[in-house]
Amino acid sequence: MGDKVQGIPASPGIVVGPAFVARWPRLDVHHATVTPDQVDVEIARFHDAREQAKQRTLELRDQVESRLGDVQAKIFDPQLMMLDDPDLVEGTLTYITDSYLTAERAFSLRVLEFRSQWLDATHARVMDRVADLNDVQARVLATLIDLPGPDILHTPPDEPVILVAKELTPSRMVELDRDRVLGVATDAGTRTSHASILARSLGIPCVVGLGDLSQRVDNGVEMILDGERGRVVIRPSESEKHWFHDRDVQAREMVRALDALASLEPVTRDGTRIGLYANLELPADAKGAVAVNADGVGLFRTEFLVVGKTAVPDEQEQYEAFRRVLDIVAPRPVTIRTFDLGGDKFPLFLPPIAEENPFLGWRGIRIYGMMPELFHNQVRAILRAAAHGPVRVLVPMVNTVDEVRAVRRVMEQARHELEREGVEHGECPLGVMLETPASVAIAEVLGQHVDFFSLGTNDLIQYMLAVDRGNAQLSPFFDLYHPALLRYIRVAVEGAGQLGRPLCVCGEAAADALGATLLIGLGVRSLSCAPSAIPAQKKLIRSLDIEYVERLAGELLTAQTSREIREHLIEALGERLDPAILDADASLSHPG
Ligand code: PEP
Ligand code: MG
Repeated sequence: MGDKVQGIPASPGIVVGPAFVARWPRLDVHHATVTPDQVDVEIARFHDAREQAKQRTLELRDQVESRLGDVQAKIFDPQLMMLDDPDLVEGTLTYITDSYLTAERAFSLRVLEFRSQWLDATHARVMDRVADLNDVQARVLATLIDLPGPDILHTPPDEPVILVAKELTPSRMVELDRDRVLGVATDAGTRTSHASILARSLGIPCVVGLGDLSQRVDNGVEMILDGERGRVVIRPSESEKHWFHDRDVQAREMVRALDALASLEPVTRDGTRIGLYANLELPADAKGAVAVNADGVGLFRTEFLVVGKTAVPDEQEQYEAFRRVLDIVAPRPVTIRTFDLGGDKFPLFLPPIAEENPFLGWRGIRIYGMMPELFHNQVRAILRAAAHGPVRVLVPMVNTVDEVRAVRRVMEQARHELEREGVEHGECPLGVMLETPASVAIAEVLGQHVDFFSLGTNDLIQYMLAVDRGNAQLSPFFDLYHPALLRYIRVAVEGAGQLGRPLCVCGEAAADALGATLLIGLGVRSLSCAPSAIPAQKKLIRSLDIEYVERLAGELLTAQTSREIREHLIEALGERLDPAILDADASLSHPG
């Protein structure tokens, strides 16, 4: 059996091939000074290198825009900003003029200072900024001292490889040669990092957060990379290779069978209709949702609107993006979730905040109080979009009734403004995410103030079990079957039911066979998951018997261990299960 390494699934697809460990040259620049009369020459060299780096980045941005779209192209904007950043530029010039350093040494020192400042802050929130800075540094030094730029991958072998690296910057990701790179595995990274977004857009299977993988493998070592489950197997046995091959074939067959499944209704054997909605991360995903006949959009994450943004996103741009989705999905409803920033997403326009625990800090709705304009613009854009179809507003990370009241006030104010201005707009039901233990505990109270609920199992597991969802090493503790979680899901269902508020589950658990069975058994009647998962969930739902799964879940509520719960579910589903579930250490739904 090969060594298995668990990471974070960043882009789907299963591939087998030899590892190629990318070790880009270190950007070491020796200490070197010039004489005072050479200072002007060094300054000119620095500005010239900056200019060339800007040109190259602009070229890259244009290429990405035509290949992948404008959202992906914006990933390069922060790099362009950095190249003009007064702190970076002036700091470098001061080193040249005051300390007579060469342009390359002065720039490297300034970059080093930036990097150490950022890494002093919490790691997750600056990861993208550090990756961008690495790109910028390599690009400027490429001109100054002829170091290879960030785009060049050194002599990969002729046969296609699985690229292994400590991390991949956005530039490196977009420049990968698809004929030679089967997949990408990196030590660092999160599902929402710029490089991961690009991997998904490019269709390159990718697993991130693999710890020290790049130290553990050598060039040529055979590996399996499973982008669905976020796993790498080093030196797989023949049977493992067959097993993964079969999974890959099954996955492809599933895609082919999609047409047939798409037209089916998600109705249980005894006739209960389960709502099956789509989660979208980009407007472009809307087509996929309609292709699989989703009942609508259960969760439209809007964080794509801040990618690369250096100022609060503008109302018109947001309105257009929402319209694009609505035009495709209506008359089915679209649930737009307001910005869930903070945690591992800190766009450049947010004020710098020193936090030890960003996931317990300024995140989701808390940011709106700090930046009222951010929320206000977004609410206006959503109300305007609502003139063209059924739109629902969903707010993340809510814990209190006062927060809901504050949201309602902003919605009212925005509505009055639009009315006064004579701008076309519509009405939107308001819902909140149930994703903290506190919100679940008071679901019944919140239900008096909101129109619907969306239960986010990704964060609920993180906050209930005190397990960082982005830390792949902790995945064994990230446990959907923990008895406490079952009880809490039940509390949420009952709390929402008190006033008949609809509740949909939109975390990764909804995309999982065992998870969905458990949720339905606990009384959940709507699920929202990635469009790609919908056909399989339809098939599953059509094989379930409500009375049976409800009885089973009722019994599981008194189980003492998660193993017991999981084993009972496996037994109940029997042959309907994807064999991957039976793989003893398959870790479920690690949504970092
Ligand atoms: C969740 O927390 O389960 C959820 C769906 O939201 P996100 O993954 O975007 O935090
Ligand atoms: Mg969440």
